[in-house]
Amino acid sequence: MSYLVLARKWRPKNFSEVVGQDHAVEALRNSISSKSSHHAYLFTGTRGVGKTSIARILAKALNCSDINENGEPCNECDSCNSINNGASIDFIEIDAASRRGIEDTKNLLETISYLPASSKYKIYLIDEVHMLTPESFNALLKNLEEPPAHVIFMFATTEYKKILPTIISRCLQVNLSSVGTNTILEHLKKIFKMEKISHDEGSLLLIAEAAKGSIRDALSISEKVISYCNKNLNEKDVRNILGIPEPKILSNLLTSIIDEDPEELLKQLESYGEYEDHESLLQGLMDLIQVIAVNQFENKKDNEINDNFISIDPSKLQFLYQIGLSNLNHFSTGYDSYSIIKMTLLKMVAFSKEHQKKNSKPSDNESTQTEDLSWPKIFNELNINGMPKKILRQASVQKSNKKLLISLPEKMFSILNDNQKKDIEICFNDYFKEELKFSYDTKVDSSLTPENEDQIKDKGLKKNIKNSIEKDSSYKEIVGGLKIEKVKFNKKNET
Ligand SMILES: [Zn+2]
Repeated sequence: MSYLVLARKWRPKNFSEVVGQDHAVEALRNSISSKSSHHAYLFTGTRGVGKTSIARILAKALNCSDINENGEPCNECDSCNSINNGASIDFIEIDAASRRGIEDTKNLLETISYLPASSKYKIYLIDEVHMLTPESFNALLKNLEEPPAHVIFMFATTEYKKILPTIISRCLQVNLSSVGTNTILEHLKKIFKMEKISHDEGSLLLIAEAAKGSIRDALSISEKVISYCNKNLNEKDVRNILGIPEPKILSNLLTSIIDEDPEELLKQLESYGEYEDHESLLQGLMDLIQVIAVNQFENKKDNEINDNFISIDPSKLQFLYQIGLSNLNHFSTGYDSYSIIKMTLLKMVAFSKEHQKKNSKPSDNESTQTEDLSWPKIFNELNINGMPKKILRQASVQKSNKKLLISLPEKMFSILNDNQKKDIEICFNDYFKEELKFSYDTKVDSSLTPENEDQIKDKGLKKNIKNSIEKDSSYKEIVGGLKIEKVKFNKKNET
């Protein structure tokens, strides 16, 4: 049995057989039932999600002579049959990856003016349309502006962002999503049952996961596995064929990383093997880290996760994941994969230690006390202007070791942007002549802000002026006189 046989056999022939694209299919069915056909469709989505399969079903539906009330093609009329057999002269499929030049496109567009041979529409399906050269795109655009009534264009692309907005605006866009693992699993169960291939539950789940959202990949992986396993699939064999590491080895590796035990780590790695798929091993480890992080976030614990993993510092998990991610692309360099995985995992141990140090509570003799800053005084000496200065005027600032905490009123905190932060941080680093670590919060102590200091000074100044005025003898006379007058006036009113 070859991949082609399985794929051809299970390629959807009508909308109801399409897997995992309910919204897109519903929209297309509706547009057919309401007879509001468009002159251009753009199918977008990652590889293997069914873009060209759905485009073909749509083409059949548009030209079918016996379409049913649900908008499904009959798959029996001449038009449907010729499209199913790849023999329709009114349905033209082009792979833009191999025919991207302007001459190819011109030749194609020349045929547009001829009426369809035996169908209602002449339909052009251009796959991987983003591969066309800019000249080809321009030629296409002219035809999209005023297409003949008998012509329908269908474009498919994995790279939506490379399509000109002027093309997109003239198309009905059909977005296809990656298919969920469970949906793929259910689909596989159905196919394996119909094909009478025995399997255990775990083996199909492994295939569904390895397909990473693509029905086509799920089928091609199934094909490979079926031929290796001689139609009797079990989880262990499938794991071996696909190079998917055992959960146990992943747990052991992660344990030696968080235990900061490089010896045990290398022992585990050695037991896994020098010539195995190390990229899959790293991916498996990252998947495990990701599942632990999600479990922590959702406050639960999946069965496959060790009890002690749940208590790993979440920021450490993020850190390990980042290291994994930044090292994944090294596998495509062609360099020895065993060296890459060794160095990546050792890096995780080394950085894990560093991370521990940074985040552990400092010992008593280490100075963590907040330094006594005379912040308003420093504020006046900072080399800063404009909005950052206005913001800092309302801030209270604390410094301990190399950390600087800037507390702001909520109003200021909400308008603080990255550029302003940068200005502020540069001026503090300049002032203290060291690289500080900055953090921000809204717990401002308004009695410690430069603004408050100014107000106190201001009040003090007013008080001084008041005092000196009150000491003035002529002032006393005037005020004394006024008081007497006031009393007299009141008394007059009372009587
Ligand atoms: Zn038909």
